Amino acid sequence: MFADQLGPHFVDSTDQPVLLIESKAVFARRRFHRQKAHLVLSALRHRAAELGDRAQFERAGTYREALDRVSGELSVCQPTSYAADRFVRGLERVEVLAARGFTPSRGDFEDWAGRRGAKRLLMEDFYREARVRLDVLMEGRNPVGGRWNFDHDNREAPPKQPTLDTAEPWWPTEDEIDEEVRADLNRWERDGDVRFVGADGPRRFAVTRREALHVLRDFVGNRLPGFGPHEDAMLAADDWMAHSLLSAPFNLGLLDPLEAVERAEDAYRSGAAPLASVEGFVRQLIGWRDYMWHLYWHFGHDYRHRNKLLARRRLPDWFTELDADGTVQARCLSEVLRGVREHGWVHHIPRLMVLGNYALQRGWSPQELTDWFHRSFVDGYDWVMVANVVGMSQYADGGLLATKPYAAGGAYINKMSDFCGDCRYNPRLRVGPDACPFTAGYWWFLDRNADRLQGNQRIARQLTARTRLDDLPELVQQEEARGNSIP
Ligand code: FAD
Repeated sequence: MFADQLGPHFVDSTDQPVLLIESKAVFARRRFHRQKAHLVLSALRHRAAELGDRAQFERAGTYREALDRVSGELSVCQPTSYAADRFVRGLERVEVLAARGFTPSRGDFEDWAGRRGAKRLLMEDFYREARVRLDVLMEGRNPVGGRWNFDHDNREAPPKQPTLDTAEPWWPTEDEIDEEVRADLNRWERDGDVRFVGADGPRRFAVTRREALHVLRDFVGNRLPGFGPHEDAMLAADDWMAHSLLSAPFNLGLLDPLEAVERAEDAYRSGAAPLASVEGFVRQLIGWRDYMWHLYWHFGHDYRHRNKLLARRRLPDWFTELDADGTVQARCLSEVLRGVREHGWVHHIPRLMVLGNYALQRGWSPQELTDWFHRSFVDGYDWVMVANVVGMSQYADGGLLATKPYAAGGAYINKMSDFCGDCRYNPRLRVGPDACPFTAGYWWFLDRNADRLQGNQRIARQLTARTRLDDLPELVQQEEARGNSIP
């Protein structure tokens, strides 16, 4: 089992022997968020402890070194990255089984994609097909409630109070394995073997199946009803809102997402949660999550190198260091970077509409950004980062995945958050010392990429509006001068 295949659905029987490998080299190669390294090591060591004598747990520099100590035939479920997939397929004594924890199978996805011919592979079509195939939230052949999609009900602006009226999430309690992990990471860092970004603990995310089930129960019982309406909202004093915090345990393989889908559907059927919230959550799993998984393989290994908008700027230090010395003044960016620094996690909209949006506007390299997201987030894995960053957030594939770039000015952030009230910038201003970097950056982005975006009907109106801005030359000069400096 790889360290992201830790749940019971990755073994075939309760007495099957298991090989687990902890490779230090993985952490030495890249500069991970401290809490991500902690989470992965803690999950692996907890699983080894749980399996006891059934597990052969090898701690080694590299996977290859560990495998040299093991004899006999092995089998493994399909790994989740091209690099790991290539590695196991190159080993003669390893049988590679089908992937687990995603639906449908790869073959069935390719059949579906093939049947669509030249038509776009739309998430909405994929999702509706999944609802029927898995019989989730269905009444016969129709969606329950008569609608497939409750997105319109699920995009409310944040409430006026500084936190959601939703229970605080359930938090795991650290144990002696966490203590040991913390001591090891401290030692590795002291010895100069590894370098981290971000703050250390307390551990916020589940590392065992028991903890993951607890998080799921707590979410469905106490927080799912609030998930839908405020799914897209951001509040400075409420880092978690009504999100499930399940991406890390899902991506460690501790829970099969279909278990969560079932629990959420039960909550709707028993009247414990409204349909819009349940549909919104189900859509994230058998819609977005599975769709991203399949696109990762479908688009091929080279997809990660796409750069349709020719964005080549390097990520600045203040960003990669997660604003460690607190110099960023744009409040949305400083709050979101604080969230990443403190937790290695922020929810979907800060990722897409604050971090990704800023990178897109400034013309940062999609490849550097993918690597940064991968390392800095507790739930970051190659399969899920590539399509989310290259496709959804940076439009670097020229629109294979998203129908228009997710670029937005300060007005969007002002509407969907409480960040702008106390900010030193004004979201309505695009030029001058108080001009919001997002508002100015939005027009600068459109202007720089006008030729490349020609023909995209979904952005045609804004491209025309840009030509009517009297202050466009001044704005362009201002943003070119601002470039990557601290906003
Ligand atoms: P919830 O809001 O409670 O959603 C429930 C679940 O839906 C999540 O746990 C996740 O498993 C799934 N999900 C929702 N959207 C997506 C999506 N676009 N792709 C895949 N799964 C999705 N998700 C990751 O798991 N790992 C990543 O590395 C990651 N990187 C992202 C980078 C960018 C630029 C963007 C825009 C999104 C990224 N996402 C990623 C998707 C999403 O932001 C996170 O899954 C979510 O914020 C995790 O918090 P949660 O578990 O509370 O999610």
